[in-house]
Amino acid sequence: MSVNDDLPWISPALALIREAVRADLPVLGHCLGGQLMAKALGGSPLVDLIVEGTHTCYLGDRSQRHPWGYGCGTCPACELRANGWTQWRSTTAPAPKS
Ligand SMILES: [Zn+2]
Repeated sequence: MSVNDDLPWISPALALIREAVRADLPVLGHCLGGQLMAKALGGSPLVDLIVEGTHTCYLGDRSQRHPWGYGCGTCPACELRANGWTQWRSTTAPAPKS
């Protein structure tokens, strides 16, 4: 499942996220929720900002830059982020050439 799937509830969910942010309400998204937030609030520029400016590595490792962002690449948080990135990329655009 992806934010780009043709499902009737995606558009209302995007509108709800935008409304919550405008109302200054906290919004948290994991997996599909993160995809929804990225699409609702900024699309690719926001995704680029998240990749460059955040990390979820359990070890706090920012020495390695992967296509999905910074991290050790092997801890459960990095594996989760890498898998989510791969899934998102497969539904939004071809993978960048490495
Ligand atoms: Zn890690």
